[in-house]
Amino acid sequence: MNSLTFVIRNACSSMKVNIDKHSGFCPGVVQAINTAEKYLKMDGQLYCLGEIVHNELEVERLEKLGMKTIGYDEFMGLKNARVLLRSHGEAPETYEVARQNNIELIDATCGIVINVQKKVRKASEKGRSDEGQVVIFGKPKHPEVISLNGQTGRSAIIIEKEEDLEQIDYQKPVRLFSQTTMQTEKFERIREIIAQRMKENKDMVEFESLNTICKQVSNRVPRLEDFARENDVLIFVSGKQSSNGKFLFEMCKSFNENSYFVSGKNELDPSWFERHMNIGITGATSTPEWLLEEIAQEIKGF
Ligand code: SF4
Repeated sequence: MNSLTFVIRNACSSMKVNIDKHSGFCPGVVQAINTAEKYLKMDGQLYCLGEIVHNELEVERLEKLGMKTIGYDEFMGLKNARVLLRSHGEAPETYEVARQNNIELIDATCGIVINVQKKVRKASEKGRSDEGQVVIFGKPKHPEVISLNGQTGRSAIIIEKEEDLEQIDYQKPVRLFSQTTMQTEKFERIREIIAQRMKENKDMVEFESLNTICKQVSNRVPRLEDFARENDVLIFVSGKQSSNGKFLFEMCKSFNENSYFVSGKNELDPSWFERHMNIGITGATSTPEWLLEEIAQEIKGF
């Protein structure tokens, strides 16, 4: 059983509300939020460069405690301040701006992302001597991809879809990485196409690929399948901006057609639960546990 169960009874029905025990923040996000809370408790204020997590309600909660989310324009104009870097990581330029402007950085970059950054930097250095290309499978505007590309002096080729593969020169070495939150099957497909095109070369050149997708993300899919099938109705809770949320919700829907996407309790519709016994509640790696519990309590009231 992959869940915590509340048995809820009222005059006319008895239903079970199960919160997926594998849902909630990933360790990287937990670490960033704990760090933010620690500094907010100490000082009552803290700047955060970019949204700390792709979940509006969690950002709102932290902003009520004194956190201020800023963009790059505001960051460039700051001086003598303290700024939190979220789990997605930053490009080297951010550290340089902080150094020049006497900004104290509280670096909450996830350890897994730091590792990928190091590997990308090494591959980029190697590419300087053998004309190798660093290729990153990911979303060009995603902060983690921007941070990874920053390790290459912004020279990486970013591949979001198969058409983007035209940008690669197959006569030169290729070193492939992935944004940590991409889908494994799509990464494998990209890898196969590149390998195939490299094989068509008459001169053999090096092709290295490293699957840098985070296990916290890839392991959720099989667990989510079990949870979606175990329940009559599935409530998927996520911020609307979370790409991980959109992808995982589509997975849920394919396993259980009574799956509904909500960002907060106000979006629940009591008619979804009529004549159903087992209600499952789950979410993305950016969905806080308190929100899942709030949704469970709301359903209890129907
Ligand atoms: S998804 Fe993985 S790599 Fe990304 S922040 Fe979470 S734990 Fe770190």
